[in-house]
Amino acid sequence: MQKLEADVVVIAAGASGLAACNAAVEKGAKVVALEKASTTGGTGSMGMGPFGLESPIQRLKQMGPSKEEAFKAMMHYTHYQVDAKLVSTYFDKATTTIEWLMNMGVEFWDAVPYFPGGWPTWHVVAPGGEGCARNLYRVLFEKAKERGVEFLLQTPGKKILKQGGKITGVIGEDRNGEKVEVACKAAIVATGGFGDNPQLIKKFTGYEWGVDMQSFRIPGLAGEGLKMAWEVGAYQTPMQMEMMFLPPAGGTDDINPVDPELMEAFRQPNYFCNIMGERFMDEAIIPNATFTGNAISHQKGRCAFNIFDENIRKFMEQGYEEVHVTFPFMKLEKFDELIKKSKDIGYKYVYVADSLDDLVAQTGIDAAGLKAGIEEYNGFCEKGYDPVFHKRHKSLKPVKTPRFYAMKFLPGAYGSLGGIKVNYKLEVLDKDWNAIPGLYGAGTDANTIYGDSYPFVLPGNTMGWALNSGRMAGESAAVYAKSAG
Ligand SMILES: Cc1cc2nc3c(=O)[nH]c(=O)nc-3n(C[C@H](O)[C@H](O)[C@H](O)COP(=O)(O)OP(=O)(O)OC[C@H]3O[C@@H](n4cnc5c(N)ncnc54)[C@H](O)[C@@H]3O)c2cc1C
Repeated sequence: MQKLEADVVVIAAGASGLAACNAAVEKGAKVVALEKASTTGGTGSMGMGPFGLESPIQRLKQMGPSKEEAFKAMMHYTHYQVDAKLVSTYFDKATTTIEWLMNMGVEFWDAVPYFPGGWPTWHVVAPGGEGCARNLYRVLFEKAKERGVEFLLQTPGKKILKQGGKITGVIGEDRNGEKVEVACKAAIVATGGFGDNPQLIKKFTGYEWGVDMQSFRIPGLAGEGLKMAWEVGAYQTPMQMEMMFLPPAGGTDDINPVDPELMEAFRQPNYFCNIMGERFMDEAIIPNATFTGNAISHQKGRCAFNIFDENIRKFMEQGYEEVHVTFPFMKLEKFDELIKKSKDIGYKYVYVADSLDDLVAQTGIDAAGLKAGIEEYNGFCEKGYDPVFHKRHKSLKPVKTPRFYAMKFLPGAYGSLGGIKVNYKLEVLDKDWNAIPGLYGAGTDANTIYGDSYPFVLPGNTMGWALNSGRMAGESAAVYAKSAG
């Protein structure tokens, strides 16, 4: 067995782990990072950017929120079902983290909201676009290596060692199956949750992956860090999915088979109904992906359909009502080509129908319910007023001219949230809420700050939490390791 020594072992080198490595080494700790994958960055590399407060970008543009505004918004949003001191400490840190990253060489494209009415806290990494945050993690990895952090890739953490009530080491396993023991004073668990583990998703959240839940399955996120922490006495918090909504994958080998350009047409505020054909929300809310995911998950069979007709298609070909930063398509183009492409790969959940009867036959939506729902909705469109969900006037467009187009959606998720209880110093707490000396949590594994729903109103929050909790855990662990001799 290979034996190493460190002050701090960081278990995983994803978003929070890389922040923790840099923060611990800045405080003078000798750091070893164990990473399961052959690369670093984890889910962080899939994203676009973190939450930031009072950053140089926001200050230059004179745009909010201030730390105080963000804190109040967050506490109101979560109904105080979270640790307020932890939120406050995180937001304090977030006022310096964008600059911390910039000083290391990370460049940002801009700070933006996720949807109209949200706060511009989402610091999208340059040059922008899907997966642009991988540039941030490349910088964090290079910087950590330059500062002397030792990375053991393809070496998952397997067990945390505890003696006399204190953390004393971590055992990993290299790609040849050989054990590696790293003696340490402090360990940081940062393994990104259980988003790639359908059994744990079912056990802890009740969703059946691929049936009533479609989430990104980032390879390797199996809940191993949580299990290791629970084994040494960490308090198990309630867990949930980081909710949004996605079309089902079924029928193809690809988890996300739908071309984003095609999906965009079906994320517009068109007629949105459940399997009974009934509307269930103000469709103008659809861009708030969390609210939409929550609403879908409360429908019969946990599914929904976005439906439009030929006239609405023509409107969308002139320009979309909603434009999203993630996939910034301005209008519907190449629609027939995109539909054909999805049919060619065998995708089953986009529908083109010559009549409502045909649509009902293809989708399984209740015929009477859909016809009644559309009739009522078309009446609202005629009057220009929706007395049920108060959808804004400009989005009230009737559904009556064949052909009809639809896409099915399920509740979706970026990944899981939570599992181990931490305090505002990111110390992991035991069942009596005493800190386990030398054990720290960061990122998704320790994300217990959202109450029941991801606060998309303050976007960039999960990556923001990962970076800031990683930073805080790294600093705390280094200080503890020094004091522990
Ligand atoms: C498509 C997509 C886009 C996103 N975009 C954004 C965005 O723009 N803004 C935002 O705020 N959030 C975004 N998120 C969420 C954000 O990326 C995550 O919340 C964040 O990366 C979580 O950080 P983490 O360190 O907890 O986990 P990760 O970044 O996932 O890192 C976990 C790491 O743990 C490793 N690991 C697992 N088990 C072990 C083990 N036993 N031992 C060692 N290593 C192990 C994994 O290989 C991985 O490298 C996005 C998520 C997805 C899926």
